[in-house]
Amino acid sequence: MGQKGLIIVYTGGGKGKTSAALGLVLRAVGYNHKVCMVQFVKGSWHYGELDSAKRLAPEFELITAGKGFVGILDDKSPREDHVKAANEALAIGKEKIVSGKYNVVILDEINYAVQLELLKLSDVIDAIKSKPPELDLVLTGNHASKEVIDLADLVTEMKEIKHPFKSGIKAKKGIDF
Ligand code: ATP
Ligand code: MG
Repeated sequence: MGQKGLIIVYTGGGKGKTSAALGLVLRAVGYNHKVCMVQFVKGSWHYGELDSAKRLAPEFELITAGKGFVGILDDKSPREDHVKAANEALAIGKEKIVSGKYNVVILDEINYAVQLELLKLSDVIDAIKSKPPELDLVLTGNHASKEVIDLADLVTEMKEIKHPFKSGIKAKKGIDF
């Protein structure tokens, strides 16, 4: 019988939430644990982890689900499309959670999707509660809701002390994406 799975939340306005989740992937795969990360994509950028995921396969599976909230603020496509994409991503995430096939499931940027009201908080809570007891479930993204924080065992808030963006330094390959 394994240990009780944890609900882990990485939130806050500083950099490092997705990076922390990916660090956890590296650690877990070292034990041949099975990990699935579902990304609620929020941009059309290419991220380095999309390629390094292939090197950690088959233990690590990375799914970028739909177009998420690409340019939600200035995008021409109807909000409905974003709602649909986010809910499709959640459906995939839930399927992975209940499958019993993974030791760790990561829902990357899901907190933003809730904050933007693309997802219903109650649907996210349902997905969390559907977790098998031994599964470690990670939720990332700033503005984690109080309800999600209340359910979690581990919550870390990344706090910005400095970010290069503020001094005009552009996002860096291998560091930011
Ligand atoms: P990372 O993916 O680098 O761990 P994150 O998951 O904490 O970052 P997100 O909110 O997902 O942060 O934003 C991702 C992108 O925004 C990255 O390019 C990151 O460098 C940048 N970013 C994160 N935090 C800040 C910040 N406080 N100011 C400016 N840009 C930021
Ligand atoms: Mg992130």
